[in-house]
Amino acid sequence: MNGEREMQADVVVIGCGASGLCAALTLSFGGASVLMVEQEPEPGGMTNYAEGMFAVGSRMQKKAKVGLTVEEAFNIHMEETHWLANPRLVRTFMDKTADTIDWLEAQGARFSGLFTISPLTQRVWHQMVGFGKEGLIEPLFAKAQKQKNIEILFETEVKSLLMEDGRAVGVVAKGKNGQAIQAKAKVVIIASGGYQDNQEWVDKYCKSGFTRPVVPARQVGSGASMAWQVGAEPYDMGVMQTIVLVPEEELTSQLLTAGFQPRLWVNKLGERFCNEAICWKFPMAGNALARQPGATAWCIFDDDTKLQMKKEGVSYVLGEFYDILKNLPDLDEELARGEEAGKVFRNATLEGLAAAIGVNQATLSETVAEYNGCCDKNYDPIFAKDRVYLQPIKKAPFYAVKLGLAAFMTNGGIRINHKTQVLKEDRSPIPGLYAIGCCAGGILGDTYEVSTTGGSLSFAVNTGRIAGESVLEDLGK
Ligand SMILES: Cc1cc2nc3c(=O)[nH]c(=O)nc-3n(C[C@H](O)[C@H](O)[C@H](O)COP(=O)(O)OP(=O)(O)OC[C@H]3O[C@@H](n4cnc5c(N)ncnc54)[C@H](O)[C@@H]3O)c2cc1C
Repeated sequence: MNGEREMQADVVVIGCGASGLCAALTLSFGGASVLMVEQEPEPGGMTNYAEGMFAVGSRMQKKAKVGLTVEEAFNIHMEETHWLANPRLVRTFMDKTADTIDWLEAQGARFSGLFTISPLTQRVWHQMVGFGKEGLIEPLFAKAQKQKNIEILFETEVKSLLMEDGRAVGVVAKGKNGQAIQAKAKVVIIASGGYQDNQEWVDKYCKSGFTRPVVPARQVGSGASMAWQVGAEPYDMGVMQTIVLVPEEELTSQLLTAGFQPRLWVNKLGERFCNEAICWKFPMAGNALARQPGATAWCIFDDDTKLQMKKEGVSYVLGEFYDILKNLPDLDEELARGEEAGKVFRNATLEGLAAAIGVNQATLSETVAEYNGCCDKNYDPIFAKDRVYLQPIKKAPFYAVKLGLAAFMTNGGIRINHKTQVLKEDRSPIPGLYAIGCCAGGILGDTYEVSTTGGSLSFAVNTGRIAGESVLEDLGK
């Protein structure tokens, strides 16, 4: 290429998030030279925001007497994904998870403890100190920088794969200042994350085109596009890590916490549509909301519930983002802020509240009366909500907090086997091409699964290691 930069390594890794870094380090320790290409100026991608990762049988779990076995976790995961996930791939990554926690700690990663996402699930969520950025990415990146056989290019976007006789032999990228780069390699690993920022794909493949990324970035599925162009099978498109949120609120905001509670949720028509306590399995709540008109709803509560949240605490929390049963001391100010932004409405009467949120007054009154009936009986004969979450809506003023759909990430795009080799439609591997982390399919069914909490990040780090080991074998190292 004239006037353009040419580079060479044993392996090119596209993306410097959790999966890419784990693959690069494994390769480097095994003696392969690695070129990592990252489109952003910093490492970490969406991993920077993650709280924790799934593992089963780790030393932390043994110490805490968490008795779950790999077999049990595998069965839970396969049942919850309705056996749509690739069982061999799931088993292979699950077999590795305990060892991977040790391996990550040996690279400097720091974990703060074991958590669970709900009272119904096991303590499999290994939380990182300071989220993924501080606890995982910074130490892995520091380690990678020390490895003489790893080079990392930032602000460099991979545009396409180089192929020779059906084998992946490198990438074409656009570097800083628009410089064209051609990097040759024996193997290419795609570790480019999801496509949650690609609205066209979200509209086309996902249950609700109304979904917005929780953390907007530039993850548009370019890795999947590149793989498809060279014959990879598009696979498991449409799986989003959806969550119900108050639109455009920080995950740590007290307003968001107050809105995403198992109180009464009504859709645009003023109708109740789910057992609101499914918020404990947040993608299920996402599914229920995705089926409602405009994928929006209102969380309705009264002044007694507001006071309870302020003074005593909330029923539900999103992992570490807000401590369980922590009260919301700034709730009045937060609700007032929400009112100014048109996300919260408050009224002395239910009729006035219905008018303010544009819902049929008679329907809302009927829905509230029916719900209050459930609360009075301490029994929900309609959606079987656990009685601990049944709180009536009686004392004015009444509040409505707007709920909408968002997604952490997408999972899926490229079909891989349990060695992380990229497969064509006839299930034969494309020589020299691997895919790992969120751009690869096979870990889920039609919905993100949270009984094996932290499975997405776990899949990323473990497929990173698996790819590294498979490629070393491929290279004869
Ligand atoms: C707020 C939030 C909280 C989360 N919490 C959890 C959690 O607690 N547990 C859990 O399991 N999961 C969680 N997730 C999901 C988790 O972050 C992902 O599973 C994980 O980060 C995936 O790692 P990855 O390596 O596949 O992708 P990433 O870490 O996103 O890395 C992909 C990298 O590829 C780069 N890239 C993309 N295209 C190109 C290109 N063409 N050229 C060069 N570089 C490219 C990107 O810039 C990015 O840096 C959370 C996500 C968010 C947003």
